Amino acid sequence: MSVDVHKETLEFQTEAKQLLQLMIHSLYSNKEIFLRELISNASDACDKLRFEALGDDALYEGDSELQVVVSFNKQAGTLTIRDNGIGMSRQEVIDNIGTIARSGTRQFFEKLSGDQAKDAQLIGQFGVGFYSAFIVAERVELTTRRAGLSAEHAVRWESSGEGSYTLEVAHKATRGTEITLHLRADERELLEDYRLRGIVRRYSDSIALPIMMAKQDAEGQAADGGLERIKLERINQASALWKRARNDISEQEYQDFYKHLSHDFEGPLVHTHAHVEGRQSYSSLFFLPSRAPFDLWDRDKRHGVKLYVRRVFIMDAAEELIPNYLRFVRGIIDSDDLPLNVSREILQHNRQIEVMRGSSVKKILDMIEDLAKNDAAKYRTFWEQCGKVLKEGVVEDMANQQRICQLLRFDSTHDSSGERVSLQDYIARMKPGQDKIYYISAETLAAARSSPHLEVFRKKDIEVLLMHDRVDEWMMGYLFEFDGKSLQSVAKGSLELGALDDQEEKQKFEQVADEFKGLVERIKTALGEQVKEVRVTHRLTDSPSCVVVGEHDMAINLQKLLKAAGQQVPEATPTLEINPHHPLVRNLKQLDDETRIRDWSQLLFDQALLSEGGQLQDPAAFVKRTNELLLALMLQGR
Ligand code: ADP
Repeated sequence: MSVDVHKETLEFQTEAKQLLQLMIHSLYSNKEIFLRELISNASDACDKLRFEALGDDALYEGDSELQVVVSFNKQAGTLTIRDNGIGMSRQEVIDNIGTIARSGTRQFFEKLSGDQAKDAQLIGQFGVGFYSAFIVAERVELTTRRAGLSAEHAVRWESSGEGSYTLEVAHKATRGTEITLHLRADERELLEDYRLRGIVRRYSDSIALPIMMAKQDAEGQAADGGLERIKLERINQASALWKRARNDISEQEYQDFYKHLSHDFEGPLVHTHAHVEGRQSYSSLFFLPSRAPFDLWDRDKRHGVKLYVRRVFIMDAAEELIPNYLRFVRGIIDSDDLPLNVSREILQHNRQIEVMRGSSVKKILDMIEDLAKNDAAKYRTFWEQCGKVLKEGVVEDMANQQRICQLLRFDSTHDSSGERVSLQDYIARMKPGQDKIYYISAETLAAARSSPHLEVFRKKDIEVLLMHDRVDEWMMGYLFEFDGKSLQSVAKGSLELGALDDQEEKQKFEQVADEFKGLVERIKTALGEQVKEVRVTHRLTDSPSCVVVGEHDMAINLQKLLKAAGQQVPEATPTLEINPHHPLVRNLKQLDDETRIRDWSQLLFDQALLSEGGQLQDPAAFVKRTNELLLALMLQGR
């Protein structure tokens, strides 16, 4: 064996050690999953080889029977997982194995609370992968050779998970990856044939790749290191689960398969599995995860759905197959008709793809709808984890907009218990004569709930939806109607309650408005360019004033958010509305002193902006003015 002496020691990224410690701690009670993770990687590697070999048969090197072999050596205390998949080049080892953490790690660390129980939940979401080997191993050796490279171009990687790893050139006759785990002394009980078979069957029965172990009667030979010579037998079913008939698959098998696919160590919420026959034949299997994948907000992340053609893995499905707003879905689409050499370009302009996409979206929406109907608790979990992403569909998928709308859930003034409501619930509770769905959007739930704009709605007992996700304002810009009812922001435009307005009240209000004409003019003069208009309102009961923007203007809180993000925001001058029944406003009407009127007007305006989540032009001046007015009152009261 010609082993090059070229050996180097490289450091992991700084977070790696911490991540490993956390992983070992968190997953300890579930430590067997390391085997599932390593076998999943081996299976992906074989999928990749099969795909690359479509264009270059030589990559098989005369051996196209792809498999994983699990073996062990009791004396040495080692467990070995060997595959004949694509393998890795030196650079790939550095990129894939040397970097424990991929994009998203920083956000992951920011989320950690230091509370072990909570963090343990997160680690699964992060996807543990290769490094789960360190749950049971004190040292891991990996030797790999990329298919197509010569035997001397193999690489040996070794680490004890302590912050660094070594890398050296190695010799490996067969392509693929061999991973040897040197188990910690107290983990050696794993090294029993029945134990390992049990774990493999439990976790990896449903993957398509054959998993082999030494034939039981040949076990003695395995210890001699004569692995090549001993007889192997397949210990999993190794048939592509998604191709099997639904009735033959148990719930447990679906769960295990999902874990393989997603590297999630919690089970999915639901799945939907279909075999479609006809002009287009394909199988699809989709899962809803029980928590948001950690890279859900990373737009460059891999998609969760894999495209296969006649059981050959082709690619992580792109936007062309599953729209972005469903990126939390995990699963597989396996087409019988597409050419094996299908490329991204073909995906983009392919009628077959469009048809599969359309019906996949339909199936996924059906699945989500069923969950909403049949299991409120699970639906709540889904909504909390992935609802924000689904909302993007209201904008991105006009064809399914109304269906998606039925799946939306909102906080509402109807219920303060935290139970979110659907638009259908809202409509069912509408008052006689009410023809609009009212909502308010604010930066936080608390801000929405205490907005002055809700006062008249509370008085009249009309329900208002409370929106406080960043995506809400954007989404509402595209949603004008649901089930024939228009949606109306209570903070935009003049308040028209239509049939909900009491005629007598309305007349009285007009009288009052007349009385306040003079004051309205004076306030307008005092505020000048800052306001578009000043008017008397009946939307307030407790607050003296509020601001509203035009029907088509951007909400004040959104303007602030976008400005903070450095974006150009079209200037929308708000209208100030004053409450003629409020003592501050009534007393202001009696004042003559122009300076005083100016100060009070400014105060009413600034207050209103603040409660709207807006930003003051000059906050220090606001504080100074408020203090002057308070002091004047204090002195008067003495
Ligand atoms: P993940 O599988 O989620 O990407 P891992 O940490 O398990 O994360 O693996 C990182 C990468 O290392 C894989 O994406 C793959 O490129 C590479 N890798 C891991 N195991 C193997 C293997 N047996 N053969 C080839 N490449 C592998």
